[in-house]
Amino acid sequence: MTERTLILVKPDGVRRGLIGSVLHRIERKGYLIQKLEKRKVDEATLAQHYAEHVDKPFYPELVRFMTSGDVVAIIAEGENVVHGFRVMMGATLPTDAAPGTIRGDFGRDWDNHEIQNIVHGSDAIESAEREIAIWFPEA
Ligand code: UDP
Ligand code: MG
Repeated sequence: MTERTLILVKPDGVRRGLIGSVLHRIERKGYLIQKLEKRKVDEATLAQHYAEHVDKPFYPELVRFMTSGDVVAIIAEGENVVHGFRVMMGATLPTDAAPGTIRGDFGRDWDNHEIQNIVHGSDAIESAEREIAIWFPEA
């Protein structure tokens, strides 16, 4: 099977009309969009998705942010797509993310303490397969 990754356009990206910009970058890079769905995420699903973060102090605000609107869940495929999309995504903090990356080009700090960073991308092949099973159990 070709390598796959799980990408989310987070609620800030959806609200700001950036779904198309994110998809454009994925496709322009040459990765294939295999699955795509706009939906809301509930707290139980988020707790699975962010299992490594549930006990962190920022988790409650992460839940508030991620449930504040629709997200777009995407499976993208291609050689090295997991690492490749992490590079395209940029650093977690949008102010630190390099220009040219999604977070660097579209994100910034806002005066509400949340990190609004537009996208999620799996950080390893094992995380990608784990996350794909959560978001697209049939895939
Ligand atoms: N996050 C946050 N506050 C923090 C750290 C992380 O709100 O202090 C959120 C942010 O949305 C981030 C997500 O939790 O994208 C996952 O954090 P991680 O460190 O795994 O960053 P990522 O892998 O998304 O770059
Ligand atoms: Mg992470």
